Amino acid sequence: MAARSGIGKSLTAWFARGHRDLPWRRTTDPYRIWVSEIMLQQTRAQAVIPYYERFLARFPTVESLAAAREDEVLALWSGLGYYSRARNLRKAAIAIRDAGEFPTTFEGIRALAGVGDYTAAAIASIAFGLPHAVVDGNVLRVVARVEDDASDVGAGSTRERFREIVQGWLEVRHPGAFNQALMELGATVCLPRNPMCLVCPVAAMCKSRESGRAAELPVKLRRQEPVHISGELLIVERSGRVLLRQREASASRMAGFWDLPTPGDLPDAKPGAHLGEIRHTITHHRYTWTVRRATFGGRPGKAFRWFAPEEWDAIPFSTTARKALRRAQVHNL
Ligand code: SF4
Repeated sequence: MAARSGIGKSLTAWFARGHRDLPWRRTTDPYRIWVSEIMLQQTRAQAVIPYYERFLARFPTVESLAAAREDEVLALWSGLGYYSRARNLRKAAIAIRDAGEFPTTFEGIRALAGVGDYTAAAIASIAFGLPHAVVDGNVLRVVARVEDDASDVGAGSTRERFREIVQGWLEVRHPGAFNQALMELGATVCLPRNPMCLVCPVAAMCKSRESGRAAELPVKLRRQEPVHISGELLIVERSGRVLLRQREASASRMAGFWDLPTPGDLPDAKPGAHLGEIRHTITHHRYTWTVRRATFGGRPGKAFRWFAPEEWDAIPFSTTARKALRRAQVHNL
């Protein structure tokens, strides 16, 4: 236990000495921290930065986000993926505006749309100094290695036990710094394949470093097999504009987004040159799309519209369509 109690101090001291300068680390404003944590849920920090800056330039306050139209929020989110995050963000902004203030307890933050235990702990600790430790895949890896524990992290009982261990490490006087340090350690030092033990601030307390098993941990037994899905996307151009189809309102979490049509959407289209392939992964679904040019002489249905490239930034535009047009070098997206 003596070693354990030193982990929190070592981590926060290491974090204070120097860490990546990320824009959301320069603030304790709960709104800004909340936006960053939602964006970071499934996306790497470096990829989030431009979206975060653009989003906050347009919506600098929770009130401005609450007053925005959903399609405008989705347009700013275009390319980040997992669009239910953007919808929930706007929904929660409306709830916060109506309540009159940002919630200041873990439970209040956890009750916001799109916020789970991890995000609530991150916001509560960083913005309000509340003693809640964050636990995600990176943190589970660090715990398994520090404790040299080969239990299956896919099991709920292991995750709960590991959560209690991290809560025991927490620096209660600096919970925000502790959590950010732990996240930073998982993201930059205790890497999945090549843990950088030589520069690790908790190396002296890490049992798997002693046992030599670090790279084999954590153990995760239950894996979902990836599902492979393939299809075609058509690029139909007329007078410099590209034909796009809007997903139906009830279709999915991508409702309202504009996408390239498939042959099923345009049965009368004549397929032309093969322009390349794109791959896109959403959780365990792996999509492979073949991109083709096509000609279409008829009148498209109500769900379709012709868009010029300069209009694309102002509409919610699917990541798949963006990638396909870039791959096809139709326009410089
Ligand atoms: Fe991870 Fe190595 Fe640090 Fe242990 S010593 S926590 S395995 S980087």
